[in-house]
Amino acid sequence: MDAEETAWAPSRAFSRALVVVAHPDDAEFGAGATIARWVDMGTDVRYVVLTDGASGSADPAMTRERLAVVRQGEQRAACRRLGVDDVAFLGYPDGYLEPSLEARRKVAAEIRRHRPEAVLAPDPTVRWTTWGFVNHPDHRAAGDLVLHAINPAASTRLWDPSLLDDGLEPWDVAELWLMGFGQGTTRVDVAHVFDRKLAALRCHASQLSGWDPGPRMREVAAEIGAAAGLALAEAFTVLRFRVLDEQGSEPAWDKPPTNVRPAR
Ligand SMILES: [Zn+2]
Repeated sequence: MDAEETAWAPSRAFSRALVVVAHPDDAEFGAGATIARWVDMGTDVRYVVLTDGASGSADPAMTRERLAVVRQGEQRAACRRLGVDDVAFLGYPDGYLEPSLEARRKVAAEIRRHRPEAVLAPDPTVRWTTWGFVNHPDHRAAGDLVLHAINPAASTRLWDPSLLDDGLEPWDVAELWLMGFGQGTTRVDVAHVFDRKLAALRCHASQLSGWDPGPRMREVAAEIGAAAGLALAEAFTVLRFRVLDEQGSEPAWDKPPTNVRPAR
């Protein structure tokens, strides 16, 4: 096993986690099995879906208005399969998401409202992949919005005092989990929950055109897992700002990182 690849072994479950994505289906493709594991561990998981998903069809008979309704229903069904019953749709137009100040305030408000120990979002640094895929700009914008929210908008008391007027006190996230299409050195063992990821993915029927995601997704998860000695895994880049222990959490800079081998 490469020293850099680490199978996730938490000291305890997150009390709360917030999943912030651009489109309905992003969370299931990138992290559906990990989210199922968090739910099983007792984590209160909430989704925030930033756009309406209204661009995601090549059907000449489809309209943006109808597709937005279809995709909300698909996302709710997928969440039910994973055991998540709290999902907020912010309704930005699909294909036009920008890390604007207005959107930063909204994402910060969601973080302050839910007070998650972990936030899961797309990695905003991924512009393309080497296998011939240009990342959707909404994914990058969603990741940037979360970064902006973590520092400073959610955590800084006076960034926007009107958040305080709404009863939303500042909040420091302990861990940020970034989805980067299989990139990242934190590997989560998902073999026992993988069928739930696939069941959740299949809820997004408007995006699959009859394609069964099972075989390809298993292949990818096996490749990701192999590096950490796992049968099936999802991968993330995890930034730790605080170290979680039984009692609560402390600033990460007080303790050595738990996910890195000590230098010899
Ligand atoms: Zn997407």
